Amino acid sequence: MSGASPSSVRIRSAYEHLAAVLGDDAVLGPGSDLSAYEDPYASAGAADFRCSGAVLPRSVEEVQAVLAVANQHGIPLWTVSTGRNLGYGGAAPRVNGAIVLDMQRMNRILEVDEEHGYALVEPGVRFVDLYGYLREHRLKLWMSAPSLGWGSVLGNALERGIGYTPYGDHAAQICGLEVVLATGDVVRTGMGALPGANTWQMYKGGYGPSLDGLFLQSNFGIVTKMGLWLMPQPAGLMSCVARFQRESDLEAAIDVLASLRRREIIQSNAQIGNVVREVAHRHPRSRWYDGPDAMPDEVIEKMRRDLGIGWWWMLRFGLYGDEELLDARFRIVQRAFSSIPGAEITGDKHLASGPDGLHACEVEGPSRRLAGVPGFFALSALKFRGDDCGHLDFSPIVAPSGREAMRVYELVKARAREHGIDYLAGFTASERHLTHVFPILYEKHDAEQTSHAAALLDTLIRELGEQGIGEYRAHLAFMDLIGDQYSFNKHALRRLNETLKDALDPNGILSPGKQGIWPAASRRQRAGTR
Ligand code: ADP
Repeated sequence: MSGASPSSVRIRSAYEHLAAVLGDDAVLGPGSDLSAYEDPYASAGAADFRCSGAVLPRSVEEVQAVLAVANQHGIPLWTVSTGRNLGYGGAAPRVNGAIVLDMQRMNRILEVDEEHGYALVEPGVRFVDLYGYLREHRLKLWMSAPSLGWGSVLGNALERGIGYTPYGDHAAQICGLEVVLATGDVVRTGMGALPGANTWQMYKGGYGPSLDGLFLQSNFGIVTKMGLWLMPQPAGLMSCVARFQRESDLEAAIDVLASLRRREIIQSNAQIGNVVREVAHRHPRSRWYDGPDAMPDEVIEKMRRDLGIGWWWMLRFGLYGDEELLDARFRIVQRAFSSIPGAEITGDKHLASGPDGLHACEVEGPSRRLAGVPGFFALSALKFRGDDCGHLDFSPIVAPSGREAMRVYELVKARAREHGIDYLAGFTASERHLTHVFPILYEKHDAEQTSHAAALLDTLIRELGEQGIGEYRAHLAFMDLIGDQYSFNKHALRRLNETLKDALDPNGILSPGKQGIWPAASRRQRAGTR
């Protein structure tokens, strides 16, 4: 479904009004360079996701002023914090003509409490900013960052992004939000509602229903402050790598890993990836193969031989704590994986030099992401398809069982082959689920490859969705499709979301279509166009 695009007359008068209220320097109207608000990996449907401009407020009061203008002119806004939601649409809006509400100027780190282990941040605070702050002040706290550290702490947590420390479930670390509703009302959740409370970032519950979740992956409000728990820095980190020889070892490796995660022997998100994924970080594909089809098995074998890679799957994870704990955990992990013939496991210890624990900045090399240091490692894989490489992400939630992971792996592998796309397979094991991670890489200038990438993603979403395996996050072009799949009891969840949407945002101005949730007017329009 496409939402109604606002008319150009309405758009022009909204921008004039915004400039009058916020000043010209806060407004990028039609005609400005809007490339920062395009989906950098545009594929199918890109022409439908073009903003008319952007507005960059500096304060909560200015956010309220923007809302007043949007309500008055009936122009939709699309909220982003830093707009680095790459693979899912970047800063581009779901509806053509929307104004991007770009929160990057609200970028204060309002508080970091070392004793109680939390931060209170505004939307524009990037992972690199928070890391710089912790480092500059020599605070004994670790943060957690996703594989690309340039986005915002707040936006990533709202989208349920993940990192690789024990605090790697970013949404689970949220404690207390400040939200501006579409009406302009400012709400603080949890203990933040109690004047004088000093526990806003300490107790998630507050009094009454827990509302934080309403603002995750949602279009019900604009989050202007977020409390986040940070990890007391441990005495040590052991950076571990396990390697498995055969393709079929995935099944046993996942079973062992899932049990270690459930029992919290392995305390952080652990990522297992296939050999193609590994090679993608090292060389462009053209070094090995330049056929139009997916890399054949013989080429993968040759790559393995030539590079001296003796494994099919590699698993990376961290162990955390005092040295005695690291050693004990490592022994248990080693014993568990020894049930898989040929499995090899190594651990590299990083220990604190003093009584304060291990500062994240003391961790070097590829282990840094296990210490929450923001980096750009994931970018190297984007060279795989040359300098003009785009990606779409397929990331469904899979039950943490070896058989299930193997079944999904084989199905995705077959479909990727049919579309001539290389399968960079990976699974991230959290405590209770796996996230399948497959960046679908393609050359953007090649129309056929680009359309195959989108068609592959569409096929995978549909085929696995029919089997009850659903995405946790979606590119703009697939938000409706996935929303349609969560259909229990005649779409009771969507109906509930729509009830909330209509009550909280009666003019339907906040991120219409986000996650397949549309305001009443767009729903009526859709019914009319059927
Ligand atoms: P990143 O942190 O990676 O730069 P974005 O800023 O692109 O992420 O945000 C990702 C998504 O999260 C956005 O598309 C939007 O749906 C949601 N989001 C981001 N910031 C806010 C916010 N302040 N309030 C409400 N939703 C937000």
